[in-house]
Amino acid sequence: MQYEGVLQKMQTEMGTPIQYYLVFENDFLNMNQVLDKKLELTFIKHQCLNCGLDKPIYRQGFCKSCFFEIPSAGDWIMRPELSTAHLDKEDRDLDYEKKVQLQPHIVYLANSSNVKVGVTRKSQVPTRWIDQGAHEAIEIVEVPNRYLAGITEVALKEHVSDKTNWRKMLTNNLEDVNLEDWKEKLKPFVPNEAVDYFLENNTETHLEFPVQRYPEKIKSLNLEKAISYTGVLKGIKGQYLIFEDNTVFNIRGNEGLYVGLEIK
Ligand SMILES: [Zn+2]
Repeated sequence: MQYEGVLQKMQTEMGTPIQYYLVFENDFLNMNQVLDKKLELTFIKHQCLNCGLDKPIYRQGFCKSCFFEIPSAGDWIMRPELSTAHLDKEDRDLDYEKKVQLQPHIVYLANSSNVKVGVTRKSQVPTRWIDQGAHEAIEIVEVPNRYLAGITEVALKEHVSDKTNWRKMLTNNLEDVNLEDWKEKLKPFVPNEAVDYFLENNTETHLEFPVQRYPEKIKSLNLEKAISYTGVLKGIKGQYLIFEDNTVFNIRGNEGLYVGLEIK
């Protein structure tokens, strides 16, 4: 079976285990069903997720000029505390920014390689946690806009990491920690503006990824350089495909690559 199209982060569905879908323009593939099968990935060209042109991908699947122009790549995406739509203040496109920023947001703790704090739109729970490869997570506050979530995250990251170690995330020696305890410990550091939104009595969510075999010594695939790679798929975690020979491929990190995928 042969597929072809531009890579975008895999769609997911909560389940035991989580289900992953690679979605192309006219086709989609449930990746869980090709576990244990041999896949051949081939780099064909670039295709910017905004303009569609064959230009080098700069970040987040966009070419450089799109990345610096389009509203969905503003600085407030990666740094929510810079959000200004609640002040009626435009960054690149106020209508778009109002739509995205002025909706319920969650500040959460997730454990993928270590406990970390993060921000997401409420509609992206648990998708965000799945994409990060977290095996457990819990909401801390639910606030009405992105700015409040951002300043809460900034305050909390004085006391807990805001980074994931993806290499460790892809190994099997992960700790289960009590995130409810962590949440209570962090409560005093939630800023005044957000303290009324602290969530009481919620519990941890546990996530189970479809991984048959974890890699031992991780090799990261650079498909643009290699042009072609063939391997047996042994697992999926976060947005990573894990192959039998310890090669891993980050689908999200390769958004905007137009590839061929053959199931052998
Ligand atoms: Zn572009």
